[in-house]
Amino acid sequence: MTAKIARYFAERRPVTPCLVVDLDVVEENFKNLRKALPDSAIYYAVKANPAPEILTLLARLGSSFDTASVAEIDMVLAAGATAERISYGNTIKKECDIAAAFARGVRLYAFDSEAELEKIARAAPGSEVFCRILTSGNGADWPLSRKFGCDVAMAKSLLLKAREMNVEPIGASFHVGSQQRDPKQWDEALAQTANLFRELEADGLTLRMVNLGGGFPAKYKKSVPTAKQYGIAITDALRRHFGNRIPETIIEPGRGMVGNAGVIQTEVVLISKKSENDERSWVFLDIGKFGGLAETMDEAIQYPLVVNGRQGTPKPVIIAGPTCDSADVLYEKADYRLPEDLAIGDKIEILATGAYTTTYSAVAFNGFEPLKAHYI
Ligand SMILES: *Cc1c(COP(=O)(O)O)cnc(C)c1O
Repeated sequence: MTAKIARYFAERRPVTPCLVVDLDVVEENFKNLRKALPDSAIYYAVKANPAPEILTLLARLGSSFDTASVAEIDMVLAAGATAERISYGNTIKKECDIAAAFARGVRLYAFDSEAELEKIARAAPGSEVFCRILTSGNGADWPLSRKFGCDVAMAKSLLLKAREMNVEPIGASFHVGSQQRDPKQWDEALAQTANLFRELEADGLTLRMVNLGGGFPAKYKKSVPTAKQYGIAITDALRRHFGNRIPETIIEPGRGMVGNAGVIQTEVVLISKKSENDERSWVFLDIGKFGGLAETMDEAIQYPLVVNGRQGTPKPVIIAGPTCDSADVLYEKADYRLPEDLAIGDKIEILATGAYTTTYSAVAFNGFEPLKAHYI
């Protein structure tokens, strides 16, 4: 947690649960990614955290934006970025939404199927398109595989079809899975992409762009490599597979841009046991899966917790949210320990919660307010 966030909690004593994001950390993340991959354009994945404060900051720093809906496109435009800096990267779009994006000036679209390509050709004529290819998602704590992308053979035939339609096929994209802790995972995807480029070249279609996706991690409980290490691994892989014909590249960091910039403060509502001989206590917080911590699903993302002012021995606990839904348990299998003198009313800080929290919180499930957020 940064000194700025600690001071905010100490001085403002905001009502919990709430998220506080330090914009200086976002700026530092942007600069580190730019330094790690100086030849790649950065398209911030808006879904990770679409707060106007973040979009405005990134627009000012020169970022471009990966969006998934017309509402996200409008947020980016409102933050001061022009339409040339927007990619409509969702492969699942209504035709009327493509038309709305086109009317706003967006000229870069993703697809992974023939039907989607046809929609883009009709609703966004003349636009640039790229085809998303499937990856395994190995090594990622939050894989995005299966739902998105097509295999390389299909990508090849779709890109060739695109050439015959009223769009300009410019490249391919992939996403190696979110919270990808292994920088080497870009290698296999780039090997496939380079193959695709060579095969299409043989058919007279020259592609010029590779979208390297997101996947850059935030530091949770487990350690993660630095942005620099990702930069080195990706640059090596590009050289290995494309030789001296390295294409234009873009990256779409979401989690890696904002994850470590935020801290959620929560309050302990209840500590209890289900039986006298239970070894572990249940600790119920005022935030849970429906209040913004959806990524604790299957305990995939394991946020570090900090309790201030308690010196007791850490004891194993089960941690759960406040709603009347039995799915609202955060950590039961993962080894979480909290001080034995923890008391009802204590504050707990949940670190690295700047990404995929505010927008995952329900509007008012069980009457609980959506997660409040402060950007400082
Ligand atoms: C969600 C998403 C991203 C961001 O992924 P992170 O793992 O958060 O960096 C990037 N690109 C696309 C197409 C996405 O859907």
